Amino acid sequence: MTKYQPKNSFESPRFCGPRTFMRLPFVEQADCDMDFIITGIPFDAGQSFRTGARFGPEAIRDFSILLRPYNPEQKINIFDYISGVDYGDIPVVPGYIMETYEKIEAGLTPVVEKGIIPISLGGDHSMTLGELRAIAKKHGPVALLQFDAHSDTWDSYFDKKYNHGTVFRRAIEEGLIDVSRSIQIGMRGGLYGIEDLDDARNLGLEVYTTNEYKKAGVERMLEIIHARIGEGPVFLSFDIDFLDPVYAPGTGTPEVAGASIDDALAFVRGLTNLDFVGFDLVEVLPAYDHGQITAAAAANIVYEFITLIALAKKAKLEQPSLLELN
Ligand code: MN
Ligand code: MN
Repeated sequence: MTKYQPKNSFESPRFCGPRTFMRLPFVEQADCDMDFIITGIPFDAGQSFRTGARFGPEAIRDFSILLRPYNPEQKINIFDYISGVDYGDIPVVPGYIMETYEKIEAGLTPVVEKGIIPISLGGDHSMTLGELRAIAKKHGPVALLQFDAHSDTWDSYFDKKYNHGTVFRRAIEEGLIDVSRSIQIGMRGGLYGIEDLDDARNLGLEVYTTNEYKKAGVERMLEIIHARIGEGPVFLSFDIDFLDPVYAPGTGTPEVAGASIDDALAFVRGLTNLDFVGFDLVEVLPAYDHGQITAAAAANIVYEFITLIALAKKAKLEQPSLLELN
């Protein structure tokens, strides 16, 4: 049995106790027996329209107590293979983005150094820069796989360089992303100009709009994603506004005619055999949510991230060792 498991919901009802993600143990120290950690990054001063994503992590945790350890779609009992904890929240500095980046990097560095995969809950998308700084220190530039209605590659907004609309341009400038292996999916909605999309492409990213992915279909898109990323470390950044507002009304900059939750789950389930070194799920804004719709989608997408980690570990354990082959 792996060391850190969710609380047994046959012994205590799942609505009992403080809310940790999926009822995992609350442990604020990284240790080598962990395969992944869940951490909240409750920062929203990078938002340009609606604010309030600082309450995203608690909303996702609140719904996540319903998640169960056996994933029937992927046919795996997650905690037979991996161990994980709720690492608590990164102590952000409200209103101060540069200081918050330092806190994120400092909080995730001991996690990444121990070979543990961080899964961060947002918070607005500006936070990903801090995560990537911690990750690239260990892994070098990583492939970026981004699901989002927006490219987030502006140069500046209100003459400011750091916010949720500029995060991936800054990450590329800092050398944290291997653009030749990176891909964005889901762009849609009105723009200030065609350069908004061209900017991302000119930076070297492969970009698929929502209509392009819908025309190609999820299966075909998964082939494209795998071909683009190939081998080597990859970071998955999932902005909840990739989903249609019908499935995710609780977000900062909603765009109509987005993905269904069915497609979103099919995408993540199809991301097997990739070398993930980190994940995040951002832009959940509970004040605009209704009946936990957005939180439910977010918690279930994170559940599929965890499943991918379990599947990778299972494949590794079942691989015959070189010794056996000889
Ligand atoms: Mn975004
Ligand atoms: Mn977005």
